[in-house]
Amino acid sequence: MAPPPLVDSHGRHLRDLRVSVTDRCNFRCVYCLPETEEAASFYRSRFRDLGRPSPPPGTPILREWKPRAELLSFEEIERVVRLFVRLGIRKIRLTGGEPLLRTDLPTLVQRLAMIPGIEDLAMTTNGFLFHRHARALREAGLQRVSFSLDSLDPANFRRMTGRDGCSEVLDAIRIARDLQFHPIKVNAVVIRGLNDHEIIDLADFARRENLSLRFIEFMPLDSGHTWLRDHVVPGHEILSRIRERFDIAPAAPADPAETARRWRFPDTPPESAAEIGIIAPVTEPFCGHCNRIRLTADGQVRTCLFSLIEHNLKGLLRSDTDDATLEDWIRSIVRGKEDRHHIGEPGFEQPERSMSCIGG
Ligand code: SAM
Ligand code: SF4
Repeated sequence: MAPPPLVDSHGRHLRDLRVSVTDRCNFRCVYCLPETEEAASFYRSRFRDLGRPSPPPGTPILREWKPRAELLSFEEIERVVRLFVRLGIRKIRLTGGEPLLRTDLPTLVQRLAMIPGIEDLAMTTNGFLFHRHARALREAGLQRVSFSLDSLDPANFRRMTGRDGCSEVLDAIRIARDLQFHPIKVNAVVIRGLNDHEIIDLADFARRENLSLRFIEFMPLDSGHTWLRDHVVPGHEILSRIRERFDIAPAAPADPAETARRWRFPDTPPESAAEIGIIAPVTEPFCGHCNRIRLTADGQVRTCLFSLIEHNLKGLLRSDTDDATLEDWIRSIVRGKEDRHHIGEPGFEQPERSMSCIGG
């Protein structure tokens, strides 16, 4: 008999598990791992223009990644995913850090794809190494890919990500299409003064290339802890800028737990996948229907992106705990899922670890 579903104390049924497979990354995005001199100089000038005291010192320039032994093995990840799927999780998204840096990722995908009950097996990537692994991932059973692409201008792409790689990511999107990953989503984090002048170009890119392009508000999850509300371009502003240029119409939500408000272009054919999405966790939080839970690469469970505590699943996995005990443990952790985040409220505390460690 199937066990009862995973429900938290606010009545939310969890269906979506994000699995980070590494904390490493080959990019240094200004909103995630702002560890380049260029990123530091952007923040310094923004703080100066806003008349704020200098950004916090000590942005780490040389990171220490987790040693390999601290990361969950493929066997451990598979076991955890099986347990969660037994408890009602239906969507698995592989993420990181940059998931394509994890050696042999297609082998993990193949193992996960064989677990009965998973309805959606997806990955979020910066796309830089996608061409090397795309076919193997597809053949292993990966269904969907989301790419991060914050700029279509190679120089600005470098400013945003700390790396030259715009053409590689554009190629990756084409490769994904050729391999029939569907739908292909593209995520763009918008930062005032850095890439907000590209909103229209990015929306037009979605229209021309038949893609779902989701504009994401910058959240306080950067490793430098230099996030300020003034860096955020609110979702409603992104939308009104797009509306000034394009005729768009709301798309019906496909899933009540959807984080994006989606808009179609009525002048594209009905079968077109072109759309834009607005993900506005800062100005229009969607915590009330959040159905997500996260597993970090080093085996910690996080019940919210903004959790200040993590739950040590790895410790249990490595101490011969049986499945029944692990299930009870997972249920008790889920019951304590936070009702909402507190960004913008007095006393809000940014989690110590950045998005790259948490797994976006
Ligand atoms: N490296 C992969 C990538 O960039 O797609 C996967 C991991 S990344 C942490 C997952 C997603 O989180 C990306 O789409 C990225 O844009 C988003 N992200 C990272 N830091 C963010 C922040 N501070 N605010 C909003 N989104 C963020
Ligand atoms: Fe790396 Fe993704 Fe973070 Fe950019 S957003 S630094 S690509 S983990």
